[in-house]
Amino acid sequence: MIDYHIHTSRCCHAVGTLEQYLAEAENKNLKEAGFADHFPLGLLDYIPRTQVTMNPEELEQYIEQVEALKSNFPAVRVKLGIEVDYLPGTEKKLEHLLKQYPFDFVIGSIHFMQNWDFTHPVYANTYKERNIGELYRSYFDLVKNLCESGLFDIIGHLDVIKKFGYRPENDLEPLWCEIAEIMKRNGICFELNTAGRDAPVGDFYPDRGLLKICHQKNVPVTLGSDAHSPDQVGRYFPEALELLKSVGYQKLAAFNRRTISAVHL
Ligand code: ZN
Ligand code: FE
Ligand code: FE
Ligand code: ZN
Repeated sequence: MIDYHIHTSRCCHAVGTLEQYLAEAENKNLKEAGFADHFPLGLLDYIPRTQVTMNPEELEQYIEQVEALKSNFPAVRVKLGIEVDYLPGTEKKLEHLLKQYPFDFVIGSIHFMQNWDFTHPVYANTYKERNIGELYRSYFDLVKNLCESGLFDIIGHLDVIKKFGYRPENDLEPLWCEIAEIMKRNGICFELNTAGRDAPVGDFYPDRGLLKICHQKNVPVTLGSDAHSPDQVGRYFPEALELLKSVGYQKLAAFNRRTISAVHL
């Protein structure tokens, strides 16, 4: 089993040292543990209202620390990942930045829409003022652009727009088919992210229905806990495994220096 979405205390809203996260990965018998802390938004010239990423000057240190753990923590295969916000207009800059570092994988996530950090509990009241159908359309439009940017290996928490439990009334299946086709066409993979179980929505990302369509369209999947504290590493993985199998997945995507391979579930 692999966990490709682990944060560290550097992002200001997680706790625990890298070693503590790895100790838990070892406890849970994981084969691989991929750190994917939040890429410094300052490097993209974006300063959100609430700081949710490491500072620009911390990036090098983060990379050195994770790389050192690859040899210093032999019990688990350690991977160097990063979770980057997809912000339209920053593609060129980001492409240039990402090339400079030896990442094993890059997760592209959407947490902001027109400066609204819609995944942050502090700003969750804003959902009440919004048309949820339109909100989903805007969110998934960004997902399409993210896929087409070619900058990322994995889409983070694919349907995180449901995080606070707001769901539109219309049938989402046509949209899901479209999204899965775009992922396939652009050779991007996604994660089954188990963190949603502990969010108000109480469900993994993405929904079972979307997961199933992704499998039908042959889009590779990987697995992540989005741990923001060491005990959350590998959370709900036995259940996640059953879910993946139940929709037909037999393999997980793994990455090495941004090259994809497959590991058995
Ligand atoms: Zn976070
Ligand atoms: Fe995220
Ligand atoms: Fe995350
Ligand atoms: Zn996250």
